[in-house]
Amino acid sequence: MVLRMSRLLLKTLRDDPADAETASHKLLVRAGYVRRSSAGVWTWLPLGKRVLENVSRVVREEMDAIGGQEVLLPALLPREPYDATGRADEYGDLLFTLKDRKGTDYVLGPTHEEIFTQLVKDQVSSYKDLPVILYQIQTKYRDEARPRSGVLRGREFQMKDSYSFDTTDEGLAEAYRLHREAYVRIFERLGFDYRVVSAVSGAMGGSQSEEFLAPAAAGEDTFVDCPACDYAANTEAVTAVVGEPESTEHPPAEEIDTPDTPTIEALAEHLGVPASATLKNLLVKVDGEIVAVGVPGDREVDMGKLAEALAPAEVEMVTAEDFADRPDLVRGYVGPQGMAGKAFRYLADPRVAAGTAWITGANKADTHARNVVCGRDFRVDEYLDVATVLPGDPCPKCGAGLQIDRAIEIGHIFQLGRKYTDAFELDVLGQNGKPVRVTMGSYGIGVSRAVAALAEQTHDDSGLCWPREIAPADVHVVAAGKAAQTEFALELSEKLQAAGVRVLVDDRAGVSPGVKFTDAELIGVPNILVAGRRVGEGVVELKDRCTGEREELTAEEAIARLA
Ligand code: ATP
Ligand code: MG
Ligand code: MG
Ligand code: MG
Repeated sequence: MVLRMSRLLLKTLRDDPADAETASHKLLVRAGYVRRSSAGVWTWLPLGKRVLENVSRVVREEMDAIGGQEVLLPALLPREPYDATGRADEYGDLLFTLKDRKGTDYVLGPTHEEIFTQLVKDQVSSYKDLPVILYQIQTKYRDEARPRSGVLRGREFQMKDSYSFDTTDEGLAEAYRLHREAYVRIFERLGFDYRVVSAVSGAMGGSQSEEFLAPAAAGEDTFVDCPACDYAANTEAVTAVVGEPESTEHPPAEEIDTPDTPTIEALAEHLGVPASATLKNLLVKVDGEIVAVGVPGDREVDMGKLAEALAPAEVEMVTAEDFADRPDLVRGYVGPQGMAGKAFRYLADPRVAAGTAWITGANKADTHARNVVCGRDFRVDEYLDVATVLPGDPCPKCGAGLQIDRAIEIGHIFQLGRKYTDAFELDVLGQNGKPVRVTMGSYGIGVSRAVAALAEQTHDDSGLCWPREIAPADVHVVAAGKAAQTEFALELSEKLQAAGVRVLVDDRAGVSPGVKFTDAELIGVPNILVAGRRVGEGVVELKDRCTGEREELTAEEAIARLA
């Protein structure tokens, strides 16, 4: 069906919405794609719904191509599984919670790891049923603290989330690889400028994790970007090139008994923060030397109390700035379990002298080791902290000066491992007849966010500028004149549509050509076809919305060009 503007539910606006700060927010509202319902909650109008569907279609096609099976789970979920994994606490205020009439606790799903794990536990019993990749494109709810930026950060939003289940680590690595490749194809097809960066898994738990970032000034993520090569990394997790340690004179790592080193639970209790909180952004000196330690992100932490909790080590708090100035001071790490990943990152910094270290192994609670040397005692393709990267620092790949840029997180993939399958005891019968604990990955794409992120990257001063694959139409036919032009435009639209071209036609009566042109620029369909003065000769003007190039063609030529 040809979309006729005379009948379309569309009211373009000349002025930016008062509260809008980002270009996508302003333009998607002004061009009539979305309408605010309440803070962070949006109505998708006909044009917007088309773009959203186009993004979903691309995502769906590529997920199906890697063998993903589409399902649809509820958004209204029992709270109990989120309590069982501790995520209700971790998400805290981010979680929308409610009770039914009987007083049973529910949540509106922020992401579905728990529920998919339970689903697979219910449906799958043998290794023969695995591997499996399940996905959905579904509404998610997060009570974001600052739902600004329109649909970029909604409190209700569309996410494609998929989950892989395997019996072996190799299987998980393969599912992860398949997703990574599918994501590359998806973001290419959608027309994104994007980078893939190593990430920290945060509240998800798990090990390997990468983010897909779309560079844009409106982004809320910062990342490290090399202007000279393709190197990019999250500022929280900069991939370092780690060679052999400079000196081999260090004694072998030895396990030591340090019963007084607090566990993360004890530390958290002392600090009055949840034990599950990610620890970051704080550094500690031991005997005058900095050792890396983090504190719970996003939360106020009493530094004095932290020092006390870390006794008997002689600790002195220093700021991230101190560290940024003198990374060579870092010798190692002391601290509770759960922080070891951070320590590895510091140790992996080529500027940090290879040397003795205290490591509290995240996975080896109570086994503490001294004299650990990065590259010798553990392998790292690892991370440095943001505090260690300053603009102008050499790129680890090519040596050019790094820059720190802003970006929008459009996708995120995780190798979760057994965090959730342990919580719900998800086993299948193995080949040898014994139960095998299943391993899991989870993979997200912000489908609604992608619409806004693309708008951020492609718009210009006159309005939106969609890549053809996701535009609400392939061509915007403008009837620029009176009845003759309108008749011509409608007829041409039918022919285009019959040739498989998706058409939006501005057939509004009583609207001046000037207003129609302005609206066409604002709406951002990639081709604008103007039926104007020369329709009597069968001639129309084709304009490329993005480059501004124009050309006069016969109607037949235009159809051939666009089909
Ligand atoms: P952010 O860092 O932007 O808050 P996140 O890391 O919390 O995102 P994930 O839990 O990794 O998000 O969710 C997967 C994807 O869902 C994200 O990569 C992003 O594209 C999208 N997403 C997350 N939160 C929102 C939101 N509030 N509005 C729209 N899309 C979102
Ligand atoms: Mg978030
Ligand atoms: Mg994030
Ligand atoms: Mg994320």
